[in-house]
Amino acid sequence: MIPVRGYAGHRVAVLGLGRSGLPSVAALEAGGAEVIAWDDGAAAREKAGAEGVRLIDLTKPGAWDGVAALIVSPGIPHLYPAPHPAIAAAWDAGVAVDNDIGLFFRSFATPDWDAFARPPRVVCVTGSNGKSTTTALIAHVMTAAGRPTQVGGNFGRGVLDLDPATDGMVVVLELSSYQIDLARALQPDIAVFTNLSPDHLDRHGGMGGYFAAKRRLFTQGGPERSVIGVDENEGRFLANVMREEAGTGDPVITVSSGRKLGGPGWSVFARKGFLAEWRRGRQVAAIDLRPMATLPGAHNHQNACCAYAVARGLGLGPKQIESALATYPGLAHRSQLIATWNGIRVVNDSKATNVDAAEKALSSFERIRWIAGGRPKEGGIDALRPLFGRVAKAYLIGEAAMDFAATLGDTPHEISGAMDRAVAAALAEAVPGDTILLAPACASFDQYSSFETRGTHFETLVRQAIATP
Ligand code: ADP
Repeated sequence: MIPVRGYAGHRVAVLGLGRSGLPSVAALEAGGAEVIAWDDGAAAREKAGAEGVRLIDLTKPGAWDGVAALIVSPGIPHLYPAPHPAIAAAWDAGVAVDNDIGLFFRSFATPDWDAFARPPRVVCVTGSNGKSTTTALIAHVMTAAGRPTQVGGNFGRGVLDLDPATDGMVVVLELSSYQIDLARALQPDIAVFTNLSPDHLDRHGGMGGYFAAKRRLFTQGGPERSVIGVDENEGRFLANVMREEAGTGDPVITVSSGRKLGGPGWSVFARKGFLAEWRRGRQVAAIDLRPMATLPGAHNHQNACCAYAVARGLGLGPKQIESALATYPGLAHRSQLIATWNGIRVVNDSKATNVDAAEKALSSFERIRWIAGGRPKEGGIDALRPLFGRVAKAYLIGEAAMDFAATLGDTPHEISGAMDRAVAAALAEAVPGDTILLAPACASFDQYSSFETRGTHFETLVRQAIATP
């Protein structure tokens, strides 16, 4: 745990008692704060109450007397579609609104660090897709190089649940737009921006708000080095700004999947399965990514480039990084091959919760039995039309099924409704050479508690079916 500094003897309110809220309560108390807390869900309140958390309804008048700060969980809206009433009340009461990320950055560095031979480094990874994979890859590469490493944030442990740093430690934090938007302190040593595509627009009031939130990680005097995917205009803009702000040296490493990046700066790009590093107009290193089975597709090559750039920025050599990338074990629910049965591949990409991720998944296979649907996102699957030729048949589930069916038009499809029927039909109809792909292009919350439970349910159903002759 990272005890929170700066609130000893003060009262602090915590809103939301889940994966980031509960560790926030503990870390604030460890730092000497008096904590009051609330969650709209009765089950979360009950669990926290049983752990001794003092519950006060923060939406009620009088809750704010003597409160120094409000710490908000990332799932709770502070602006769009409407501010949570407790957040609005905190504004009116003049109480600072922050989150666990802000608390982490004000508390992580301690006077003990003076005795370290190598200062700990914090790497923050954001972007629309590829954050978790890039985060896990960086941690894997740094661990393989013998550096003490921890991962947290949106992936793994809540940030305040991490252990205090040891000599030379690398902490890799995956940060969502929600987490970045509210944090009052953000001081990454290295900041990574993988890519940008529409997602969570309801929470950010549109694309501009979404980019503005992510951009906060890249502020003047901020990261010593930025690794920036430049395949969208927002990334190109950001790279340009950070290059100018940081002045001399190589403060920015640009990354592309598909485009050759040369020029005077520092860049890492992947083309036709090869990663290349260029610096000051010369190629420095190249890696063949094609044999790396756990990093399939151009999207994963983008992630590999980002992780490579970070590791180079932290002083590792190209060969060292190459051998570590080759032993990356992969992550569940992201383009994960879960079975090969009678010549049919079954892939779990439950984390493809938006159209861009689903596009990458569909682009990676031919003759796809596509299980899609759930709680739809703005724009539906219109952008996937160019890939419908790869779909042998779609099996549609959840709230989005009817809309997706309308967009699919003549592409073969059925409304399966629920996962069990979709899996049964896809397995019954698949022929050798087909890929059964769960890539929902939707959130899971209409039928599941998370993308993980959705992916696990899919995998269980598949395993049961192929085990039963
Ligand atoms: P995030 O943490 O940003 O959601 P993940 O690594 O968990 O990213 O991947 C989320 C989804 O996006 C998965 O379906 C994965 O296959 C896909 N994906 C992974 N990397 C990329 C990328 N660089 N660009 C687009 N899609 C990606």
